[in-house]
Order: sequence, then C-alpha cells, then structure tokens
Amino acid sequence: MFKLDTIISLAKRRGFVFQSSEIYGGLNGCWDFGPLGVELLKNIKEEWWKAMTYRDDIEGIDASILMHPKVWEASGHIAQFTDPMIDNKTSRLRYRADNLIEEFIDKLKSKKRTDKAAELETRLSQVQDNADYHKIIIDFEIPCPVSGSTEWTEVRNFNLMFKTFIGPVEDVNNTVFLRPESAQGIFVNFKNVMETGRQKVPFGIAQIGKAFRNEINTKNFLFRVREFEQMEMQYFIKPGSEMEWFDYWQERRYNWYLELGMKKDSLRFKPHEKLAHYANKATDIEFLFPFGWGEIEGIHSRTDFDLKRHQEFSGKKLEFVDTVNQDRFVPYVLETSGGVTRGLMAFLCNAYDEEKVTDDKGNEETRVVMRFSPKLAPITAAVFPLVNKDGMPEFATKLYKDLQKNFKVQYDTSGAIGRRYRRQDEIGTPFCITVDGQSLEDNTVTIRERDSMNQVRISIDAVKSYIFDNISK
Ligand code: ATP
Repeated sequence: MFKLDTIISLAKRRGFVFQSSEIYGGLNGCWDFGPLGVELLKNIKEEWWKAMTYRDDIEGIDASILMHPKVWEASGHIAQFTDPMIDNKTSRLRYRADNLIEEFIDKLKSKKRTDKAAELETRLSQVQDNADYHKIIIDFEIPCPVSGSTEWTEVRNFNLMFKTFIGPVEDVNNTVFLRPESAQGIFVNFKNVMETGRQKVPFGIAQIGKAFRNEINTKNFLFRVREFEQMEMQYFIKPGSEMEWFDYWQERRYNWYLELGMKKDSLRFKPHEKLAHYANKATDIEFLFPFGWGEIEGIHSRTDFDLKRHQEFSGKKLEFVDTVNQDRFVPYVLETSGGVTRGLMAFLCNAYDEEKVTDDKGNEETRVVMRFSPKLAPITAAVFPLVNKDGMPEFATKLYKDLQKNFKVQYDTSGAIGRRYRRQDEIGTPFCITVDGQSLEDNTVTIRERDSMNQVRISIDAVKSYIFDNISK
C-alpha cells in the first residue's frame, strides 16, 4: 500500500489535481482538475453513462443545481441533513462530534488500549441524540486534537446545505440551496421522463452532476470535499420487487468497478446496520484507500418515501398506472449513488504502482506506473520519433494527427526514448508508439504496452484497430 501523500504529489506534479484558488492560498474542501485530471474525470463519467444509460430501461437527465426550496422540505434535507458539531472553547475549532470520538478510538487502539477503545465503541453505537455525543466526550475526557483542551460547548446540529438567494432581494422568501445531492432532480422529473420516454415500471433515470455540502471537516484529499460530482441512478419499481432489484444492482455496480480495473481485494460491500427510516435495505461499496476503507458508492432501497413526499408537498400525483394489470401505485425506488470525485480518487490510488526495473545500461531504477484501465487512462497513446531527424518527425507527426481524430494522444520528442516511456508510465498511458528507421522503409511502427513493457511491430495501417481492440477488451 502506497502513502496518500505519494499519490497526491504525483497528482499535483503531473496535472491531475490542483488546490482550488492556489495562488490565493487555496480554498478549503475545493479542488481543481488539471489537464490530465479532467480527462480521467470525463472517462469515468463516460464509462458510467454508457453502462447505465445505453440500455432500454434507463433514461438520462441533467437537472438544474438550483431547485424550488420546497424540494428540500419534501426530501427532509432542511430538517435532517445535519451533522452533530461541537466547538472547543480553547482552540475555537469545530469538529463533527462522531468523528472526534472515532479518531479518539483510533488513537486508543494505536496505543493498544483496546479495552477502553471497545467501551467507547459500544457507547458510540448506542448514541440516540446530541446529548449522548456530548456525554461521551465529557465522560471519556476526549481532548481537542490541536489544543489538548477538554473544554467543550454543547453538541448542536449543523445543516450541510449551502444557502444563497435568487434574484436581487436577499430575504427568506428568496432563499435557495445548492443541491446537496443530484437525486432530487430525478424524483421531481419522474413523471416527465416516464411520459416523454414512454417508459413503464420498472425503469430508471440516471444523472451525473455537481453536489455541494458544507462539510464540517474536509479531509483526505478528494474523499470529503465541499463541491463534488455524483453519478446517481434511481430505478422505479413495483413495491415488493425491491430485494430482487437490490441484488441485481449491487452486483452490477460492484462489477463495474472490477471491469475498470479495481482490485478485488480493495473492494467490499458494507451493509448498513442502522437503516435510515425510509430505507428497507442499504449497502455501501467500499474501497481500501491508503487511510483505510471508505465508501465510494451506496446502494439504497428507498421504498416509496421520496415520491410520496413529493406527491404530498407538490400536490401532484406521482403514480404509475399499469394499464395491463389495471393497477396504480407509487413506485418504490432502488438507488445507486456514486461519487465521481471520490471515485476518481479511488481509481488514482488503485492505479498507482512502483516497480524495480533495469535500464539499458543495466542500472536498477524505480518505475512509477499508473495502471489505469485503457478505458480510463487520460492519454490513450503517445507517439515518439526515435530521433528528431531523418524523416522520422514527419512520419510520426502524420500518425499522431491521424490518431488525434479518435483518441487523446501526446507527441513527445524530448530526451532518450527510455525517459519518454517513463513520463508516459507515470501518467498511465497504455500505448507508446515509436517511429524508427525501419518505419520509413516498411511502414511499420513499434507499440509498447505499458504494463508488460512488451513491444510489437505492426503496420501503420493497423495501429488504430490495435488501439480500439485493446481498449474494448
Ligand atoms: P459519507 O457518509 O461519506 O458522508 P454519504 O453516505 O453521506 O457519505 P451519500 O449521501 O450516500 O454519501 O452520497 C453518495 C456518494 O457521494 C458517496 O458514496 C460519495 O462517493 C459521494 N460523496 C458524498 N459526500 C461527499 C463529499 N463530501 N465529498 C466527496 N464525495 C462525496
């Protein structure tokens, strides 16, 4: 397992991810994607979009980020989308009460104080309300990690939605929220999509888009941020069929990650023990990050909670009328809710590898290689003229321009060929194509495959189909 710092450093150095507003000292919990990051992000979304919507029963939408404020009353976000927060009176720092306790448990474990850690874990699992959190923090004398002080305020609820105003008047009647999840845009469009898409239950609606949460503690690079993207799908089904669909979707979503190269032992299901009041089954798909297991996607059986609430708050019927069986009902919802941003971080961690290799002169060196699936790699191929003369650059440029019509390709002439391979390995380019003296004689080039480092010589006319075949494998 490699350190998170090593991966973050590569991500910055090679232009995957930059701190937001870096020249002003950065903005906490916000990140910018650079030239390579944006390609990776786009490829992840494209693979998801193809897997989820290139089928008969799922339609895509792109709903607006700002929605009618009643949406968030109906969804329960205004009343309940809160985290328990506590302030330390000495350092004036604010913490999520549950995180503060969890981190203290980890500290106890690392000091081998397992009895006390177990006692604390039991207390945490029994928490009913904010007063319980407060009592634990006081009883166990949990200190502020920065000041060491045990002077705490009460635990209060903090709503995670970002508030703003629509129009020129900043008052309560004009308050809107930046959406904290994309799902509500799907629920409110249920009828529109069913009717215009001529869909019948079971069918789904998929969406990729930004979401905003004013998280109290952002941490671990892209894992917990304040602005991120989600890829969500709500599958509308007949009540009673949810367990069957749950199994179907949990397997499909898990396999999607495997098919894109995630290692089996870095993925697991984590079924929810405590269910939200509207859910009758839920599981997370977790990835093994350098800091431990963390959720990358949730599969939730949400019953008819969402559509019934929107029916109640909007006064509009949100039913499916089954004309074949003379039946009408509010569908149940099976949801798959994944993070693009968090997923990208998981794909970065999954791809990072270092290995010892010997160079042409017999010296041992470390090869850093991002083992992205060719479907996700930001740059699909790189073209190199072996030397920058003798007609090779012209030959290579022609090939490069031709490949550019279909793929994201780089052209590199600088430095020894070995150095050029290493530069591409480090960003995970799966195919490096070299034009050499022989190319000019017989119209062939070599293609070097990133992981095996094997080279094959093929006709220039076969290069495109070679890449297409190897990407779709
Ligand atoms: P967590 O418990 O980690 O806060 P959650 O259970 O609130 O996550 P959901 O509301 O189910 O998450 O959101 C679905 C997905 O959206 C998550 O699996 C995750 O990939 C992503 N996500 C949620 N919050 C964040 C965030 N603050 N930063 C990045 N991604 C996020």
